[in-house]
Amino acid sequence: MENDLFDFATANRIIFGKGKLELLSDIIQGLGRHVIVVKGKSFPDPKRLYEILETSGIERTEYIVSTEPNLEMLIEAVSIARQAKCDFVIGFGGGAPIDAGKAIAALINNKGDILNYLEVVGKGMPLGNPSKPYIAIPTTSGTGSEVTRNAVISILDKRVKVSMRDAYLLPSVALIDPELTVSVPPHITASTGMDAFTQVIEPYLTKNTNPLVDMFCREAIPRAAKSLYKAYKNGSDMNARVDMSFVSLLGGLSLANAKLGAVHGLAGPIGGMFHAPHGVICAALLPAVMVVNAELIASADNTEQKVARFKDIARWVTGDSSATIHAGVDWIANLAAKMKIPGLAKLGISPSDFPEIIKKSRRSSSMKGNPVLLTENQMHRILEMSL
Ligand code: NAD
Repeated sequence: MENDLFDFATANRIIFGKGKLELLSDIIQGLGRHVIVVKGKSFPDPKRLYEILETSGIERTEYIVSTEPNLEMLIEAVSIARQAKCDFVIGFGGGAPIDAGKAIAALINNKGDILNYLEVVGKGMPLGNPSKPYIAIPTTSGTGSEVTRNAVISILDKRVKVSMRDAYLLPSVALIDPELTVSVPPHITASTGMDAFTQVIEPYLTKNTNPLVDMFCREAIPRAAKSLYKAYKNGSDMNARVDMSFVSLLGGLSLANAKLGAVHGLAGPIGGMFHAPHGVICAALLPAVMVVNAELIASADNTEQKVARFKDIARWVTGDSSATIHAGVDWIANLAAKMKIPGLAKLGISPSDFPEIIKKSRRSSSMKGNPVLLTENQMHRILEMSL
Protein backbone atom coordinates (compact mmCIF):
# COMPACT_ATOMS: atom_id res chain seq x y z
CA MET A 1 0.00 0.00 0.00
CA GLU A 2 1.35 3.47 -0.92
CA ASN A 3 1.38 6.13 1.83
CA ASP A 4 -0.23 3.83 4.37
CA LEU A 5 0.26 6.16 7.33
CA PHE A 6 -2.47 8.63 7.99
CA ASP A 7 -4.10 10.81 10.58
CA PHE A 8 -7.82 11.39 10.13
CA ALA A 9 -10.04 13.97 11.84
CA THR A 10 -13.51 15.21 11.10
CA ALA A 11 -16.65 16.76 12.59
CA ASN A 12 -17.71 15.21 15.86
CA ARG A 13 -20.96 13.95 14.33
CA ILE A 14 -22.11 13.71 10.69
CA ILE A 15 -25.83 13.38 9.96
CA PHE A 16 -26.74 12.84 6.32
CA GLY A 17 -30.05 12.37 4.55
CA LYS A 18 -33.15 13.87 2.98
CA GLY A 19 -35.32 15.52 5.63
CA LYS A 20 -32.69 15.31 8.39
CA LEU A 21 -33.07 19.02 9.21
CA GLU A 22 -35.92 17.82 11.42
CA LEU A 23 -33.35 16.27 13.78
CA LEU A 24 -32.13 19.74 14.72
CA SER A 25 -34.46 19.94 17.73
CA ASP A 26 -32.69 16.88 19.25
CA ILE A 27 -29.20 18.05 18.27
CA ILE A 28 -29.50 21.40 20.04
CA GLN A 29 -30.67 19.90 23.33
CA GLY A 30 -28.35 21.03 26.09
CA LEU A 31 -26.34 23.48 23.95
CA GLY A 32 -27.80 26.56 25.66
CA ARG A 33 -30.54 29.15 25.25
CA HIS A 34 -29.22 31.57 22.67
CA VAL A 35 -27.91 30.85 19.17
CA ILE A 36 -26.33 33.04 16.52
CA VAL A 37 -27.46 31.88 13.07
CA VAL A 38 -24.96 32.82 10.37
CA LYS A 39 -26.66 32.71 6.98
CA GLY A 40 -26.65 34.00 3.41
CA LYS A 41 -28.62 37.10 2.39
CA SER A 42 -31.71 35.82 0.57
CA PHE A 43 -31.22 32.09 0.05
CA PRO A 44 -32.00 29.55 1.21
CA ASP A 45 -35.24 30.16 3.08
CA PRO A 46 -34.60 29.67 6.82
CA LYS A 47 -38.33 29.31 7.68
CA ARG A 48 -38.23 25.70 8.84
CA LEU A 49 -34.94 26.20 10.68
CA TYR A 50 -36.43 29.14 12.60
CA GLU A 51 -39.65 27.23 13.39
CA ILE A 52 -37.57 24.44 14.95
CA LEU A 53 -35.57 26.94 17.02
CA GLU A 54 -38.76 28.67 18.19
CA THR A 55 -40.48 25.42 19.13
CA SER A 56 -37.38 24.47 21.09
CA GLY A 57 -37.48 27.77 23.00
CA ILE A 58 -34.12 28.99 21.65
CA GLU A 59 -33.50 32.74 21.39
CA ARG A 60 -31.92 33.77 18.11
CA THR A 61 -29.55 36.42 16.81
CA GLU A 62 -29.14 36.48 13.03
CA TYR A 63 -25.99 37.49 11.20
CA ILE A 64 -26.16 37.87 7.42
CA VAL A 65 -23.12 37.01 5.30
CA SER A 66 -23.62 38.54 1.88
CA THR A 67 -20.10 37.94 0.52
CA GLU A 68 -17.25 35.58 1.29
CA PRO A 69 -16.19 36.13 4.92
CA ASN A 70 -13.67 38.90 5.56
CA LEU A 71 -11.93 40.33 8.63
CA GLU A 72 -14.29 43.26 9.14
CA MET A 73 -17.32 40.96 9.00
CA LEU A 74 -15.84 38.57 11.56
CA ILE A 75 -14.97 41.37 14.00
CA GLU A 76 -18.55 42.68 13.78
CA ALA A 77 -20.21 39.25 14.10
CA VAL A 78 -18.07 38.15 17.04
CA SER A 79 -18.84 41.37 18.91
CA ILE A 80 -22.60 40.88 18.29
CA ALA A 81 -22.41 37.23 19.42
CA ARG A 82 -20.49 38.11 22.61
CA GLN A 83 -22.90 40.92 23.49
CA ALA A 84 -25.90 38.63 22.97
CA LYS A 85 -24.15 35.96 25.08
CA CYS A 86 -24.67 33.34 22.39
CA ASP A 87 -24.13 29.79 23.64
CA PHE A 88 -23.78 28.15 20.25
CA VAL A 89 -23.57 28.87 16.53
CA ILE A 90 -25.44 27.56 13.48
CA GLY A 91 -24.07 28.12 9.96
CA PHE A 92 -26.81 27.81 7.32
CA GLY A 93 -26.03 28.31 3.64
CA GLY A 94 -23.28 27.84 1.07
CA GLY A 95 -19.57 27.63 1.86
CA ALA A 96 -19.35 31.35 2.69
CA PRO A 97 -21.79 31.34 5.66
CA ILE A 98 -20.55 27.90 6.75
CA ASP A 99 -16.95 29.18 6.87
CA ALA A 100 -18.02 32.44 8.54
CA GLY A 101 -19.96 30.52 11.21
CA LYS A 102 -16.97 28.28 11.83
CA ALA A 103 -14.64 31.23 12.36
CA ILE A 104 -17.20 33.08 14.52
CA ALA A 105 -17.70 30.01 16.76
CA ALA A 106 -13.92 29.87 17.25
CA LEU A 107 -13.33 33.59 17.77
CA ILE A 108 -16.06 34.05 20.40
CA ASN A 109 -13.86 31.93 22.68
CA ASN A 110 -10.44 33.11 21.40
CA LYS A 111 -9.75 36.78 22.07
CA GLY A 112 -7.10 39.04 20.54
CA ASP A 113 -6.26 40.06 17.00
CA ILE A 114 -7.82 37.74 14.39
CA LEU A 115 -4.62 38.00 12.35
CA ASN A 116 -2.91 35.95 15.05
CA TYR A 117 -4.86 32.93 13.82
CA LEU A 118 -4.55 33.42 10.06
CA GLU A 119 -2.09 31.69 7.74
CA VAL A 120 0.08 33.63 5.25
CA VAL A 121 -0.94 37.18 6.28
CA GLY A 122 -0.84 36.58 10.04
CA LYS A 123 0.93 34.47 12.64
CA GLY A 124 -0.99 31.22 12.00
CA MET A 125 -1.11 30.59 15.76
CA PRO A 126 -3.16 27.66 17.08
CA LEU A 127 -6.48 28.50 18.73
CA GLY A 128 -5.93 28.27 22.47
CA ASN A 129 -9.52 27.46 23.41
CA PRO A 130 -12.15 25.16 21.90
CA SER A 131 -14.84 26.84 19.76
CA LYS A 132 -18.42 27.36 20.84
CA PRO A 133 -20.51 24.35 19.73
CA TYR A 134 -21.01 24.75 15.98
CA ILE A 135 -23.68 23.12 13.81
CA ALA A 136 -22.92 23.40 10.09
CA ILE A 137 -25.93 23.01 7.78
CA PRO A 138 -24.77 23.31 4.14
CA THR A 139 -27.30 24.27 1.49
CA THR A 140 -25.04 23.98 -1.57
CA SER A 141 -23.19 20.83 -2.65
CA GLY A 142 -19.74 22.18 -3.15
CA THR A 143 -17.21 22.97 -0.48
CA GLY A 144 -17.57 20.17 2.08
CA SER A 145 -16.72 22.88 4.61
CA GLU A 146 -19.09 21.22 7.09
CA VAL A 147 -16.34 18.68 7.81
CA THR A 148 -13.13 20.65 7.27
CA ARG A 149 -10.85 22.24 9.83
CA ASN A 150 -10.33 25.51 7.97
CA ALA A 151 -12.30 28.65 7.23
CA VAL A 152 -11.36 30.71 4.17
CA ILE A 153 -11.20 34.45 4.90
CA SER A 154 -10.78 37.29 2.38
CA ILE A 155 -8.21 39.94 3.23
CA LEU A 156 -9.64 42.74 1.12
CA ASP A 157 -6.75 45.24 1.21
CA LYS A 158 -4.19 42.58 0.20
CA ARG A 159 -6.48 40.94 -2.41
CA VAL A 160 -5.87 37.46 -0.98
CA LYS A 161 -7.92 34.69 0.58
CA VAL A 162 -6.26 32.85 3.45
CA SER A 163 -7.26 30.13 5.89
CA MET A 164 -7.73 29.96 9.60
CA ARG A 165 -6.85 26.32 10.26
CA ASP A 166 -7.12 24.40 13.50
CA ALA A 167 -8.64 21.16 14.77
CA TYR A 168 -10.94 23.29 16.96
CA LEU A 169 -12.59 24.53 13.75
CA LEU A 170 -14.03 21.09 13.02
CA PRO A 171 -17.80 21.52 13.51
CA SER A 172 -19.53 19.77 16.41
CA VAL A 173 -22.24 18.56 14.02
CA ALA A 174 -22.39 18.47 10.22
CA LEU A 175 -26.09 18.24 9.35
CA ILE A 176 -26.41 17.53 5.63
CA ASP A 177 -29.92 17.49 4.23
CA PRO A 178 -29.85 17.26 0.40
CA GLU A 179 -33.42 18.58 0.27
CA LEU A 180 -32.01 22.01 1.20
CA THR A 181 -30.09 22.09 -2.10
CA VAL A 182 -33.14 21.66 -4.37
CA SER A 183 -33.60 25.44 -4.70
CA VAL A 184 -30.02 26.02 -5.90
CA PRO A 185 -30.30 27.45 -9.46
CA PRO A 186 -28.52 25.74 -12.39
CA HIS A 187 -25.53 28.09 -12.66
CA ILE A 188 -24.75 27.70 -8.93
CA THR A 189 -25.36 23.95 -9.11
CA ALA A 190 -22.75 23.93 -11.90
CA SER A 191 -20.09 25.99 -10.14
CA THR A 192 -20.50 24.43 -6.68
CA GLY A 193 -20.70 20.97 -8.25
CA MET A 194 -17.42 21.50 -10.11
CA ASP A 195 -15.84 22.58 -6.81
CA ALA A 196 -17.03 19.33 -5.21
CA PHE A 197 -15.83 17.32 -8.23
CA THR A 198 -12.39 18.95 -8.06
CA GLN A 199 -12.19 18.24 -4.34
CA VAL A 200 -12.47 14.50 -4.92
CA ILE A 201 -10.12 14.48 -7.94
CA GLU A 202 -7.21 16.44 -6.44
CA PRO A 203 -6.95 14.37 -3.20
CA TYR A 204 -6.84 11.20 -5.36
CA LEU A 205 -3.86 12.58 -7.28
CA THR A 206 -2.03 14.47 -4.53
CA LYS A 207 1.35 13.32 -3.31
CA ASN A 208 -0.27 13.08 0.13
CA THR A 209 -2.73 10.33 -0.80
CA ASN A 210 -3.85 7.95 1.91
CA PRO A 211 -5.88 4.74 1.69
CA LEU A 212 -8.87 6.07 3.62
CA VAL A 213 -9.16 9.15 1.42
CA ASP A 214 -8.66 6.97 -1.70
CA MET A 215 -11.81 5.08 -0.70
CA PHE A 216 -13.82 8.29 -0.55
CA CYS A 217 -12.53 9.47 -3.93
CA ARG A 218 -13.22 6.12 -5.62
CA GLU A 219 -16.80 6.36 -4.42
CA ALA A 220 -17.25 10.04 -5.19
CA ILE A 221 -15.71 10.52 -8.65
CA PRO A 222 -18.12 8.17 -10.47
CA ARG A 223 -21.07 9.61 -8.51
CA ALA A 224 -20.18 13.17 -9.53
CA ALA A 225 -19.75 12.04 -13.14
CA LYS A 226 -23.18 10.39 -13.04
CA SER A 227 -25.14 13.07 -11.20
CA LEU A 228 -23.73 16.59 -11.56
CA TYR A 229 -25.19 17.21 -15.01
CA LYS A 230 -28.51 15.66 -13.95
CA ALA A 231 -28.74 18.02 -10.95
CA TYR A 232 -27.88 20.94 -13.26
CA LYS A 233 -30.59 20.01 -15.81
CA ASN A 234 -33.26 19.20 -13.25
CA GLY A 235 -32.79 20.67 -9.80
CA SER A 236 -35.66 18.57 -8.43
CA ASP A 237 -33.93 15.28 -9.30
CA MET A 238 -33.60 14.12 -5.70
CA ASN A 239 -31.30 11.18 -6.48
CA ALA A 240 -28.87 13.52 -8.23
CA ARG A 241 -29.07 16.04 -5.38
CA VAL A 242 -28.38 13.28 -2.81
CA ASP A 243 -25.39 12.10 -4.87
CA MET A 244 -23.96 15.61 -5.10
CA SER A 245 -24.42 16.29 -1.37
CA PHE A 246 -22.57 13.05 -0.71
CA VAL A 247 -19.80 13.95 -3.17
CA SER A 248 -19.43 17.32 -1.45
CA LEU A 249 -19.19 15.64 1.97
CA LEU A 250 -16.61 13.16 0.67
CA GLY A 251 -14.65 16.06 -0.85
CA GLY A 252 -14.54 17.82 2.52
CA LEU A 253 -13.41 14.63 4.28
CA SER A 254 -10.77 14.11 1.61
CA LEU A 255 -9.28 17.58 1.41
CA ALA A 256 -9.12 17.93 5.18
CA ASN A 257 -7.17 14.69 5.55
CA ALA A 258 -5.03 14.49 2.40
CA LYS A 259 -4.24 17.59 0.41
CA LEU A 260 -5.47 19.25 -2.76
CA GLY A 261 -3.20 20.42 -5.59
CA ALA A 262 -2.50 23.10 -8.17
CA VAL A 263 -6.17 23.75 -9.03
CA HIS A 264 -6.80 24.98 -5.51
CA GLY A 265 -3.26 26.36 -5.22
CA LEU A 266 -4.06 28.74 -8.10
CA ALA A 267 -7.80 29.18 -7.33
CA GLY A 268 -7.09 30.66 -3.88
CA PRO A 269 -5.04 33.64 -5.15
CA ILE A 270 -7.36 34.14 -8.14
CA GLY A 271 -10.38 34.22 -5.80
CA GLY A 272 -8.68 36.92 -3.72
CA MET A 273 -7.87 39.03 -6.80
CA PHE A 274 -11.07 38.67 -8.84
CA HIS A 275 -14.74 38.46 -7.89
CA ALA A 276 -15.62 35.07 -9.29
CA PRO A 277 -17.29 32.00 -7.80
CA HIS A 278 -14.71 29.58 -6.40
CA GLY A 279 -16.19 26.62 -8.33
CA VAL A 280 -16.03 28.46 -11.67
CA ILE A 281 -12.33 29.13 -11.13
CA CYS A 282 -11.73 25.48 -10.21
CA ALA A 283 -13.63 24.24 -13.27
CA ALA A 284 -11.63 26.54 -15.56
CA LEU A 285 -8.30 25.29 -14.19
CA LEU A 286 -8.98 21.58 -13.66
CA PRO A 287 -8.46 20.24 -17.23
CA ALA A 288 -5.18 22.11 -17.78
CA VAL A 289 -3.80 21.13 -14.36
CA MET A 290 -4.61 17.48 -15.08
CA VAL A 291 -2.97 17.62 -18.52
CA VAL A 292 0.24 19.25 -17.30
CA ASN A 293 0.50 17.05 -14.18
CA ALA A 294 -0.13 13.88 -16.23
CA GLU A 295 2.55 14.84 -18.78
CA LEU A 296 5.13 15.52 -16.07
CA ILE A 297 4.34 12.33 -14.20
CA ALA A 298 4.41 10.20 -17.35
CA SER A 299 7.90 11.48 -18.16
CA ALA A 300 9.31 10.85 -14.65
CA ASP A 301 10.79 7.58 -13.34
CA ASN A 302 8.92 5.08 -11.14
CA THR A 303 5.57 6.76 -11.43
CA GLU A 304 3.39 3.92 -12.78
CA GLN A 305 1.12 4.02 -9.74
CA LYS A 306 0.54 7.73 -10.19
CA VAL A 307 -0.13 7.37 -13.92
CA ALA A 308 -2.59 4.59 -13.08
CA ARG A 309 -4.53 7.03 -10.90
CA PHE A 310 -5.07 9.39 -13.85
CA LYS A 311 -6.26 6.40 -15.88
CA ASP A 312 -8.65 5.38 -13.08
CA ILE A 313 -10.29 8.79 -13.26
CA ALA A 314 -10.57 8.57 -17.05
CA ARG A 315 -12.31 5.17 -16.76
CA TRP A 316 -14.65 6.29 -14.00
CA VAL A 317 -15.86 9.48 -15.67
CA THR A 318 -16.22 8.09 -19.21
CA GLY A 319 -17.46 4.64 -18.20
CA ASP A 320 -15.03 3.25 -20.81
CA SER A 321 -12.58 0.67 -19.42
CA SER A 322 -9.96 1.55 -22.08
CA ALA A 323 -10.26 5.35 -21.83
CA THR A 324 -7.01 7.31 -22.14
CA ILE A 325 -6.02 10.05 -19.70
CA HIS A 326 -6.77 12.65 -22.40
CA ALA A 327 -10.24 11.20 -22.98
CA GLY A 328 -10.91 11.59 -19.24
CA VAL A 329 -9.71 15.20 -19.20
CA ASP A 330 -11.79 15.99 -22.32
CA TRP A 331 -14.85 14.48 -20.64
CA ILE A 332 -14.41 16.78 -17.63
CA ALA A 333 -13.78 19.86 -19.82
CA ASN A 334 -16.93 19.03 -21.87
CA LEU A 335 -19.00 18.70 -18.72
CA ALA A 336 -17.97 22.22 -17.64
CA ALA A 337 -18.66 23.54 -21.17
CA LYS A 338 -22.13 21.88 -21.28
CA MET A 339 -22.94 23.70 -18.03
CA LYS A 340 -21.77 26.99 -19.64
CA ILE A 341 -18.90 27.53 -17.19
CA PRO A 342 -16.56 30.11 -18.74
CA GLY A 343 -12.77 30.12 -18.90
CA LEU A 344 -10.56 32.49 -16.91
CA ALA A 345 -10.59 35.22 -19.60
CA LYS A 346 -14.33 35.77 -19.09
CA LEU A 347 -13.60 36.37 -15.39
CA GLY A 348 -11.43 39.34 -16.39
CA ILE A 349 -8.09 37.55 -16.07
CA SER A 350 -5.38 38.24 -18.64
CA PRO A 351 -1.74 37.13 -19.05
CA SER A 352 -0.58 40.33 -17.32
CA ASP A 353 -2.11 38.93 -14.09
CA PHE A 354 -0.20 35.65 -14.27
CA PRO A 355 2.98 36.75 -12.43
CA GLU A 356 1.01 37.92 -9.36
CA ILE A 357 -1.19 34.79 -9.35
CA ILE A 358 1.86 32.52 -9.61
CA LYS A 359 3.75 34.38 -6.89
CA LYS A 360 0.82 34.20 -4.47
CA SER A 361 0.08 30.54 -5.28
CA ARG A 362 3.58 29.51 -4.13
CA ARG A 363 2.55 30.27 -0.54
CA SER A 364 -0.73 28.37 -0.66
CA SER A 365 -0.91 25.13 1.27
CA SER A 366 -2.86 23.39 -1.54
CA MET A 367 0.01 23.89 -4.01
CA LYS A 368 2.21 21.82 -1.71
CA GLY A 369 -0.09 18.83 -2.29
CA ASN A 370 0.29 18.86 -6.09
CA PRO A 371 1.61 15.51 -7.33
CA VAL A 372 4.62 17.24 -8.90
CA LEU A 373 6.46 20.47 -8.13
CA LEU A 374 5.50 22.92 -10.87
CA THR A 375 7.91 25.48 -12.30
CA GLU A 376 6.84 29.04 -13.03
CA ASN A 377 6.69 28.22 -16.76
CA GLN A 378 4.48 25.21 -16.15
CA MET A 379 2.07 27.29 -14.05
CA HIS A 380 2.09 29.95 -16.76
CA ARG A 381 1.16 27.27 -19.31
CA ILE A 382 -1.71 26.04 -17.11
CA LEU A 383 -3.10 29.56 -16.78
CA GLU A 384 -2.72 30.19 -20.53
CA MET A 385 -4.57 26.94 -21.33
CA SER A 386 -7.37 27.89 -18.87
CA LEU A 387 -8.15 31.35 -20.36
P1 NAD B 1 -21.63 30.67 -1.48
O1 NAD B 1 -21.69 30.33 -0.07
O2 NAD B 1 -21.19 32.05 -1.84
O3 NAD B 1 -23.06 30.41 -2.13
C1 NAD B 1 -23.22 30.63 -3.51
C2 NAD B 1 -24.60 31.23 -3.79
O4 NAD B 1 -25.56 30.23 -3.58
C3 NAD B 1 -24.99 32.41 -2.90
O5 NAD B 1 -25.48 33.43 -3.74
C4 NAD B 1 -26.09 31.84 -2.03
O6 NAD B 1 -27.06 32.81 -1.70
C5 NAD B 1 -26.69 30.78 -2.93
N1 NAD B 1 -27.35 29.68 -2.22
C6 NAD B 1 -26.87 28.93 -1.19
N2 NAD B 1 -27.73 27.96 -0.87
C7 NAD B 1 -28.79 28.10 -1.70
C8 NAD B 1 -30.01 27.38 -1.84
N3 NAD B 1 -30.28 26.30 -1.12
N4 NAD B 1 -30.88 27.80 -2.79
C9 NAD B 1 -30.59 28.87 -3.58
N5 NAD B 1 -29.46 29.57 -3.48
C10 NAD B 1 -28.56 29.18 -2.56
O7 NAD B 1 -20.71 29.70 -2.35
P2 NAD B 1 -20.18 28.21 -2.17
O8 NAD B 1 -19.63 27.83 -3.48
O9 NAD B 1 -21.17 27.33 -1.52
O10 NAD B 1 -18.96 28.40 -1.15
C11 NAD B 1 -17.84 29.13 -1.55
C12 NAD B 1 -17.10 29.60 -0.32
O11 NAD B 1 -16.59 28.47 0.40
C13 NAD B 1 -15.92 30.46 -0.65
O12 NAD B 1 -15.86 31.48 0.33
C14 NAD B 1 -14.74 29.51 -0.54
O13 NAD B 1 -13.55 30.21 -0.27
C15 NAD B 1 -15.18 28.63 0.59
N6 NAD B 1 -14.58 27.28 0.61
C16 NAD B 1 -14.26 26.75 1.82
C17 NAD B 1 -13.70 25.49 1.91
C18 NAD B 1 -13.32 24.93 3.24
O14 NAD B 1 -12.88 23.80 3.33
N7 NAD B 1 -13.47 25.65 4.31
C19 NAD B 1 -13.48 24.72 0.76
C20 NAD B 1 -13.83 25.28 -0.47
C21 NAD B 1 -14.40 26.57 -0.53
